Amino acid sequence: MIKLHDKFFKPFLSEEEILSAIERMALEIAADYKDSVPVFVGVLNGAFMFVSDFLKAYPHPCEVSFVRLSSYQGLTSTGIVESLLDVPEEVEGKSVVILEDVIDTGRTLKQLVHLFSNTNVKEFKIASLFYKPSVYNGEYTIDYVGMEIPNNFIVGYGLDYNELGRNLRAVYQLNESHMINLVLFGKPGAGKGTQAGFLKEKYNLKHISTGDVFRYNIKNGTELGTLAKSYIDRGDLVPDEVTINMLKDEVEKNPEAAGFIFDGFPRTAAQAQALDNFLETKDMKVNATIALEADDDILVSRLLERGKESGRSDDQDESKIRNRFDEYNEKTAPLREYYEEQGKFHSVNGIGEITEITERLSAVINAL
Ligand code: AMP
Repeated sequence: MIKLHDKFFKPFLSEEEILSAIERMALEIAADYKDSVPVFVGVLNGAFMFVSDFLKAYPHPCEVSFVRLSSYQGLTSTGIVESLLDVPEEVEGKSVVILEDVIDTGRTLKQLVHLFSNTNVKEFKIASLFYKPSVYNGEYTIDYVGMEIPNNFIVGYGLDYNELGRNLRAVYQLNESHMINLVLFGKPGAGKGTQAGFLKEKYNLKHISTGDVFRYNIKNGTELGTLAKSYIDRGDLVPDEVTINMLKDEVEKNPEAAGFIFDGFPRTAAQAQALDNFLETKDMKVNATIALEADDDILVSRLLERGKESGRSDDQDESKIRNRFDEYNEKTAPLREYYEEQGKFHSVNGIGEITEITERLSAVINAL
């Protein structure tokens, strides 16, 4: 385990694994370019080590050059890609193979393609040492890939966390065992969203409310929104498959999170099982499920009040609210047992001042 700035990282890929992937790539590319002299264009800063080892493994004559782009600040891709060192002039009329250290969302790649679109290169190919298929937007074909990796935050072998870690010979990944992942449990109106808002600040967690994600999609008229709308309007649950995939996407979008608060998820046994299985693949787990308890009559009056302010249609009609409670009693309440069996279930009185309730929740979290 190594520490860079404030975070811990654990070994992920050894130097040997990386070098053998590079050798495979070099030979594959060499087979395609045996009759010409390609220019390999490394993307700085991250690709410098890759370019060096790649060239040593490349068996035929070739040229090398660099462009410099920057898109990361801290741990997440900011989405802003700056060009700091422009396309070299000597590429005109030549076959260019871009050497990228890692392709994740594809935003940097878009900028690269754009940079080279104004040049008269003979041919333009893309090679990436690491590739994260689960987050790639698929806009361009990636011609050569060294290794497919999951969407974990990685450092080493040229890649950095706020500029540290580039000199490591191996690749390390963020150690998730310091994470706290919480499930907030409780009926509609129990205060899960309100409390999540405070807890996420206090414990530096990422709040994922499946209800909010659905409402965002409905508002923006996405395919997912259209699909979910009819269920939500009736106060029924959205089908598991849709909800589970959406939840996974939300987690994948936040590889840097110090932990998550799941609010409104899981709501069925299938969702709880899927969450456990999914987190396990990422070396993560649910640390605690905390239920906010309150009686139905109080909840109905809170929800009707909220409906007046927010305009949420499922909060304005008592019969829809009661239907949501029925869904909860039938499908969600049994999860209590699921988490009790794992020794993770905690119950908190959800009636009282908001700050008092935050204190009760914090007491549970601090004892974890
Ligand atoms: P909420 O904002 O959590 O009360 O969710 C509002 C509505 O979104 C629910 O009544 C469901 O129709 C839908 N929804 C939210 N989360 C889930 C989930 N985990 N599974 C199925 N449906 C959900």
